Amino acid sequence: MAKAKTHKIKMMEEQLSKKLSRQVVGSLVGCVHCGMCDQSCHYVLAFPDDHKMTPSYKADQVRKLFKANHDWTGSVFPWWVGADKVPLTDDDLETLKDISFGTCTNCRRCTLSCPMGVDTATLNRVMRGLLTHVGVMPEGVRVVSKDQWELGNQMGVLKEDYLDTLEWMSEELEEDLGHDKATIPVEKKGAKVMYCINPREVKYDPRTIKEAALVFWAAGEDWTMPEDGWDNTNFGLFSGDDGLGGACAKREYDKARELGVEKIVISECGHGFRSTRFEGVNWAGEGTPVEMESSVQTMLNYVKEGRIKVDPTKNPERMTFHDSCNNARSGGFFEEPRELLRLVSMDFQEMYPNRAENYCCTGGGGAMSMSEYTPKRLQSAKVKADQIRATGAKIVVTSCHNCVDGLQDLIKHYDLGCEVKQLVDLVAKALVLDDDKKPADEATLGEIAVEKVEVSEPLAGRKILVVDDEEDVRTFLITVFEDAGAEVISASSGDEGIAMALEHQPDLISLDLSMPGKDGVETFVELRKTEGISEIPVCVVTGHPEFRQVIYDRPVAPPEGYLGKPVDDDKLVAYAHHIIEHREEKAN
Ligand code: SF4
Ligand code: SF4
Repeated sequence: MAKAKTHKIKMMEEQLSKKLSRQVVGSLVGCVHCGMCDQSCHYVLAFPDDHKMTPSYKADQVRKLFKANHDWTGSVFPWWVGADKVPLTDDDLETLKDISFGTCTNCRRCTLSCPMGVDTATLNRVMRGLLTHVGVMPEGVRVVSKDQWELGNQMGVLKEDYLDTLEWMSEELEEDLGHDKATIPVEKKGAKVMYCINPREVKYDPRTIKEAALVFWAAGEDWTMPEDGWDNTNFGLFSGDDGLGGACAKREYDKARELGVEKIVISECGHGFRSTRFEGVNWAGEGTPVEMESSVQTMLNYVKEGRIKVDPTKNPERMTFHDSCNNARSGGFFEEPRELLRLVSMDFQEMYPNRAENYCCTGGGGAMSMSEYTPKRLQSAKVKADQIRATGAKIVVTSCHNCVDGLQDLIKHYDLGCEVKQLVDLVAKALVLDDDKKPADEATLGEIAVEKVEVSEPLAGRKILVVDDEEDVRTFLITVFEDAGAEVISASSGDEGIAMALEHQPDLISLDLSMPGKDGVETFVELRKTEGISEIPVCVVTGHPEFRQVIYDRPVAPPEGYLGKPVDDDKLVAYAHHIIEHREEKAN
C-alpha cells in the first residue's frame, strides 16, 4: 500500500508555493543534468564516486517537490522527472536534512559552471527553508536561530556582556594610547557611522573591536556602536528562514534610523555583508535605509583619502588572501580587499583559483554550527588546503569571521602551519599614527600632551642630567629643574654626558641634538647601547628642524620624549615629571 504524506510534507509543499520566485523557478526548470557543474563542487572533489555529492542531485531534492506539485511534466512523466519519488515520511525529511545541511555550503561555485544559469545554492537554501519551516534542522542551527530570534544575536551574547566588552576594549584603547578621547562611543546620536559586528568578535575575539576602534580614532571618524541591533550576521541566510532574515536586518536598519547615522559600516563578515547590504532589504521588505559598506571599503577609503597612514613593512610575512564566497561570488567584492592588503603588507601571493572562482573554506552556509557533519566537511576541505599550501604563505588573510573559523579548522587538520588574520588586524598593525595620536610611551614623533604639575617641587628627589653645548640653554634648563626640586648635573658634550650618566645614574637625561664633536644623535645611540645606562629615559630638547628624520630611523628604542626649543618652563617640568613617573609605573 502506498504511504500517505505526513502533515509536515504537506506543510512543506504549501510553503514551496510561496517561494517560487522567477529566480527559483528558472533554476528549478533549467537543469538538463549535463554534469558540467560537478567538478566545481568541493564535495564532489572529495567524494568522486558518490553521485549524491553532485550539485544536480542536491538540487533535485527540491526539484522533485516542484515537479510533483507545480509542473506539467510531473503529471505526465512522474517517473522521468522524479515526481514519483517525493519525500513522504519523517525519515525522508531526516535524509533531506543531511543532504541540504551536510553536503552543501551554499557556496554557489557550481553556478559559475552551469550553461543554464542554475543557482543550486539558492535551491538548496529553499530546501533548508522548507525543512526549518517544519522544525527539521541540525541542532546547531536550531540553537543559533533561537538565539538570534530571542536575544538579537546569533551567539546568545547578553546585552550587559556586549556593553561590558565594549567598555573593556574602550578602556584598553585609552590606556594603550594615553588619550581620553580614544574610546568606543556607544549609542551616539547623529554620528556619521554606525559600526556593526559579528558576535564572534564579542565572544571570542574582542581584539578586532579594539583594532577597528583604533582605525576609526586614527581616521578621526565620527562613529558609534549601537546598544542593540549591532549583530551584522544573519542566520536566516543559512537556515533559509526569510522571516528570521528580515527580522535581523530590520534590527540594524531601525537602529541606524533611530541614531540618525549616515552609514552602516559592516565589520569583516562575508555573510553579514551579503545579508545586511543585499538580501536583508528584500527579506525585510523595505528599501535601503542608509548607505552600507564593508569595513574593508571604509579602511581602504581612509588610506586613499590620506585619513590614515600605513607602513607595509610592519607586515612583512608572506600572505595569501582567501575570498569569502559571500563577499566575492555573491557580493562582487574582491578587488577592494586586495588593494588594501597590498597597501598594508609586503609579500602578497595569490592562491589559485581566486576571486569569484575561489573554493569555499568549507565553513560556509553555517557549517561551523553543525558539528555532526565535521568529518565530511574537513574531507571536502582538501582542495582549499592544497590551494593554501601552494602559496607558501605564513598568513591567510580573509575578510570573514566565518572563514576565519573554517580556515583555522582546516589549517589544523591538514597541518599547514599558518595562521589566519583579517584585514583589520593588518591595518591596525601597519598604522602610523599622527604625532598628536601617538601612545604616551611612543611619544617620539612629537610632543605628548601633559598637564601642568600643580604640586610644589614635583621633581624633588629626582636626579636629572642636562647635556647641551650652549651655556645659556644649559643654565636655563638647570635652573628650571632645580626650581622644581631636582638635583641637576650637566655636561657640555656627548662624551662627557655619557661618562656622567654612567657615574651618576640619573632618573632622566635631557639631551640636545646639535652639538659639536659627538652630536646628540650619536650620543643618544651610544646611551641606548651602553650597558648600565641603556634604560635611562631620554628627553630630546632640541631646535633641530629635521629631528624626526635624524633620530627615529636608528636601530635602537626611540627617546621617551621630545620638546622643541624654545622651551616653556612649566611644560619642561611637567614633561620630565611625566616621563619619570611613567617609566617607574612600567617598571613596577
Ligand atoms: S553550492 Fe557549493 S557546496 Fe553546494 S553544490 Fe554548489 S559547489 Fe557544491
Ligand atoms: S546545474 Fe547546470 S551544469 Fe549542473 S547539471 Fe544542471 S544544467 Fe548541468
